[in-house]
Amino acid sequence: CGIVGYVGARPASEVVISGLKRLEYRGYDSAGVALASDGGVEWRKRQGKISNLEESIAEQPLPDAPSAIGHTRWATHGAPTDANSHPHVAGRIAIVHNGIIENYARLRAEFDGTEFASDTDSEVAAHLLNREVEQGRSLTEAMQAVVGRLEGAFTLVAMDAQDPDRIVAARRNSPLVVGIGQDENFLASDVAAFIEYTRDAVELGQDQIVEITRDGVNVVDFDGAPAETNAFRVDWDL
Ligand code: GLU
Repeated sequence: CGIVGYVGARPASEVVISGLKRLEYRGYDSAGVALASDGGVEWRKRQGKISNLEESIAEQPLPDAPSAIGHTRWATHGAPTDANSHPHVAGRIAIVHNGIIENYARLRAEFDGTEFASDTDSEVAAHLLNREVEQGRSLTEAMQAVVGRLEGAFTLVAMDAQDPDRIVAARRNSPLVVGIGQDENFLASDVAAFIEYTRDAVELGQDQIVEITRDGVNVVDFDGAPAETNAFRVDWDL
């Protein structure tokens, strides 16, 4: 339902959670956040309000990290439980997903089912991406390979714990905007998530992939060719 990603020097999980709160008006049943620490993924996720997620972080604080991704879920596949909340993690990869992956059952059959921790359509994307990066592909190359196999609607945001200075996202039939800051950049399903930090935004077009780092934003199409985007300034009030 709601997606936020951040790369920059601010406390990454706090920026992401503040962004998720700005998207609360859309409704949701669970919330979660992931970041990279010591070469692995750290994550917290909870069914219910964002305050439940904040309680779990208060009990088990998250470390500082150069980036973080977060999600508020509106369940379509799998009950609203802690396990089905996003992010979903497979090996080095964490993902959050909005939308529906129609062919998830067929894709999931490629894996040993015991690896799966949820009943969602989304989790298989984490396993597919992890398989690609473990074969030596960059996260952006992995995203290109994986989105070519997904049917349905998705905004899919991923991070690789072994490459924590970037976040990669792809979209088809589901919205994704980039917030352009100074030495920091944002991703979100809606500009409301980042307008307290920046008003400069780039809207992704259909079937595009974006990679953000602290000082760069690069958009390509699903084949890896440079893509046209729409830059704009958010001029409405908070
Ligand atoms: N289909 C996914 C799920 O049920 C994502 C739902 C959403 O867009 O929040 O977990």
